[in-house]
Amino acid sequence: MELQTALVAGGAGFLGSHLCELLLAEGQRVICIDSFVTGNRDNLRSIRDHKRFQLLKHDICQPLELRARVDRVYNLACAASPPHYQADPVHTMRTCVVGTLNLLDLAQRHGARFLQASTSEVYGDPEMHPQKESYAGSVNCTGPRACYDEGKRAAEALCFDFLRVGRADVRVARIFNTYGPRMHAEDGRVVSNLVVQAMKDEPLTVYGDGSQTRSFCYVSDLVDGLHRLMEIELRPDGPVNLGNPAEFTVRELAELVLDLTGSRSRMRFLPLPVDDPRRRRPDIGRAGSFLGWRPVTPLREGLLKTIRHFRETEIEGDAESTE
Ligand code: NAD
Ligand code: UDP
Repeated sequence: MELQTALVAGGAGFLGSHLCELLLAEGQRVICIDSFVTGNRDNLRSIRDHKRFQLLKHDICQPLELRARVDRVYNLACAASPPHYQADPVHTMRTCVVGTLNLLDLAQRHGARFLQASTSEVYGDPEMHPQKESYAGSVNCTGPRACYDEGKRAAEALCFDFLRVGRADVRVARIFNTYGPRMHAEDGRVVSNLVVQAMKDEPLTVYGDGSQTRSFCYVSDLVDGLHRLMEIELRPDGPVNLGNPAEFTVRELAELVLDLTGSRSRMRFLPLPVDDPRRRRPDIGRAGSFLGWRPVTPLREGLLKTIRHFRETEIEGDAESTE
């Protein structure tokens, strides 16, 4: 049987690099494209010399021509951490809209299946709890998060239009907060911030009073869900939530991080960012029935692996800096 080729846009990022690894392990050829706005080559260290792996530096806001035939297009390209996607909001919106359109066009030209990495942010500050895919969301289109959440909503609209008019076979994953090894220490998201601060015995920055909730999914569970959604023959009707339904307050997360790191840090309470959603938990019934998927890694276990990763990279970083 001929090898399948997957294009992974945003493949040098946190989730993308884990997905590239999984696809190579599944026997696929992988073309990773990335502009390195938030991703980096270090994330690809374990696979960069793999004979079925190719890396291209490219911004998806520009159209892409590929000579090689592509069977699958995964679009993960977009900064995902609030400080990063807000640093150049116009580029974030352009990436979501123009970038997604460019990749959908490419998928159509190649007759490839397309998977869009959407987000729980499309639900905004939700009035429905837990969030089901049928919930239309409560998003502020003029706030500082709009470049990302409205951008991702527009990207979903493009995806479903391509599907409706028969231009591509499209699947949309609504990803909830995901964490794990290879989150960047400076990423700005809560898990990496708290773990790095705890390891340095610095104060843990808790925004607001820490009573807001999130549901944290470990990265290997998440990329398994993305792969299943892409490969399932019977396409789910509409988007699919992927996330871990176990819900924690940010304060509970901070306490767990202190416990698991054995840190002497205390918590420092800072103002809550504008439009920060109060709570978030996925209803994953659709992923269960269509994909037979559910996350299997509890937060404690996933955090331990993440802490180990940060400890190892800290040690490597120290060794490199003394060379
Ligand atoms: P990340 O920032 O680590 O990775 C994003 C990657 O996309 C980076 O390598 C970056 O350089 C690349 N990129 C950004 N804009 C680009 C452009 N215009 N052209 C080419 N490459 C570009 O983030 P992540 O956590 O790995 O997220 C990956 C995807 O999953 C994103 O689309 C994000 O919206 C989505 N998502 C992630 C989470 C999460 O918790 N990690 C939650 C919901 C949705
Ligand atoms: N948060 C926090 N301290 C931090 C970073 C984030 O308390 O150092 C909070 C943030 O306000 C939000 C939650 O943690 O309520 C998750 O934030 P993150 O940026 O990881 O993801 P998102 O807001 O996109 O869900």
